[in-house]
Amino acid sequence: MKQAGLAVLKKYWGHTTFRDLQWDIIAAVLNGNDTLALLPTGGGKSICYQVPAMLLEGLCLVVSPLVALMKDQVEKLNQIGISAAAIYAGMPQKEIKIILGNSIQGQIKFLYVSPERIQTELFQVSLREMPLSLVAVDEAHCISQWGFDFRPEYQKINSIRVVFPDVPIIALTATATHKVIDDIEKQLEFKNTQRFTASFSRPNLSYIVRQTSHKENQIFQIANGVKGAGLVYVRSRKRAEILSDILINAGYAASCYHAGLSHDIRNERQSKWIAGHTQIMVCTSAFGMGIDKPNCRFVIHEEWPDSLEAYYQEAGRAGRDGQPSFCILLVDASDTLQLDERLNLQFPEETFVKKVYDALCSQYQLQIGQSMSEPVAFDIELLNQKLKTREANLRPALQVLQQLGLIHLSDAFFEPSRCFFTADHQEIELLSNDSYKQLLGLLLRTYGGLYDYPTIISEQFLARKLNKSEALLRKDLLSLHDLKLLNYKPQNQVARLTFTTTRIQSNYIQFSNANYKERKSLYKAKLSQMLNYACSNSTCRSQLILAYFEEKNASTCGTCDVCRNNKSTLIDKEQIWRDMIRTKTAVSKVSINELMSMIASHEQNQFKDFLRMMLDQNQIKVMPDGSIQML
Ligand code: ADP
Repeated sequence: MKQAGLAVLKKYWGHTTFRDLQWDIIAAVLNGNDTLALLPTGGGKSICYQVPAMLLEGLCLVVSPLVALMKDQVEKLNQIGISAAAIYAGMPQKEIKIILGNSIQGQIKFLYVSPERIQTELFQVSLREMPLSLVAVDEAHCISQWGFDFRPEYQKINSIRVVFPDVPIIALTATATHKVIDDIEKQLEFKNTQRFTASFSRPNLSYIVRQTSHKENQIFQIANGVKGAGLVYVRSRKRAEILSDILINAGYAASCYHAGLSHDIRNERQSKWIAGHTQIMVCTSAFGMGIDKPNCRFVIHEEWPDSLEAYYQEAGRAGRDGQPSFCILLVDASDTLQLDERLNLQFPEETFVKKVYDALCSQYQLQIGQSMSEPVAFDIELLNQKLKTREANLRPALQVLQQLGLIHLSDAFFEPSRCFFTADHQEIELLSNDSYKQLLGLLLRTYGGLYDYPTIISEQFLARKLNKSEALLRKDLLSLHDLKLLNYKPQNQVARLTFTTTRIQSNYIQFSNANYKERKSLYKAKLSQMLNYACSNSTCRSQLILAYFEEKNASTCGTCDVCRNNKSTLIDKEQIWRDMIRTKTAVSKVSINELMSMIASHEQNQFKDFLRMMLDQNQIKVMPDGSIQML
């Protein structure tokens, strides 16, 4: 069997050997086991399902969370002569039907779909007729609410089991704690389970934490000091735009990447970075999944991510080629104060979520016990005004309501309109057209940052304030865009809200259904563990990360800032001891015991080792009378 596997590996991918664990995983799948493969980023997970699929008759269905990931894999497979296709949102229905038809007829080997797709009726009907031989669930940690990237849609994947109870499933992930792994296997209803986990150790990575009050200076220093390309992770799209401008103005070949940019721009920037034309990519967590750049030499985090899993995943994009690389986390005094703020943003207080639900229902005049089956146009700005809160607070609360199954928000909600000024203050002052003047004035009064970065705006709100129709307002914004005074990226569809249940009394909202409290306290624990990593300066960073993934007894890495610090203090100490021995032995006879008595008790073991080393290296000698002589 292995020979056949190697032949496929060689024929299509051109590799001559399997990496550690790859063959074991493939063999388990070929033997019909449900298999969990936990390999670090760059470990070669795709081969683990693609090779067995090639050896099995029939179709391999791959569930993947991101369109970009699917497209990337389909392209790679097509390039090596394997028929693969993906179905994703926005694709014309006709095209979807053709792909489904081809999958049924056996003309496609790999079919990539998002988890939401599996639920659609068309897919469910087609699925029954597919010659399915294997299901691969990529980024499988998304299935678990105990993981750092929980996606509720993932929990529906097991509906495939109903149709194909005996087709094996392989779940792949680069990051998961034991709790998450158990959950993945449970949710996917694993039988005859085989579990393979590789070590999380990345010996070529130096993990470093820098305490600093000048993060930007540190970024400059690192970019100057480390040869090669790097990533700087920041926490907001806004910050990504600002920091990349700062770097560009300072003469660096920098760019930025976040989910607010169009698909084409993202692709272009990503390719330039991969090709080495851009040295520094300033990005949000939207960047990275599935991006294979072997020679990324450093990954800087300007702020600490929400969990060590997320940190490990993002930092791990450095050094995929095995060459020495740096993962640097920048920390300043205010960072430690953010814990509660972050917690409340992600998991708003239950009372606030209830308040948002009530406000939402009354905005659409939905009475208790009433239902509304049709989706309605939704304007977050109106709700903001009503609740006198900020959008940054409201969005998480709405997401909680969606997770609780009370509402559904259309994709457009997550891609609102944005604009920013391309002209400077003076040009805008000089505008003579009154209508534009009013609009620009209102924009400036309502939104901060329009001169700096793409800012979310609400046309509905602006139109109401200016007492004109939304259509006219959009026209004005487009004219200003054509005049190159501002850059306007309209939302391509109106955001829609559906009430998925009849209105209930907010007191009866069942947070327990979504394990809200438990998830909140877990999230808090993860924040604290990450903060502990950022603040500790006594334990090897690599050991801390490995302990988080429950790899016990890992040895110290020798290359993180803590290890380096320990080494240099030991070297300093050795110098002091050497000088002491030299002085003492020069003036009188001293024995080992006398020397020992001069050393603090907590350092005596280290000192003993040091003396042993000096003896071994003939730097000192013990004379017949027991005294020490320096050679
Ligand atoms: P992951 O999904 O685990 O991050 P990939 O599947 O993208 O990793 O593989 C990472 C890189 O390793 C790819 O460039 C791939 O071609 C290479 N690779 C995988 N398996 C092997 C192998 N057996 N021999 C040589 N290269 C391999």
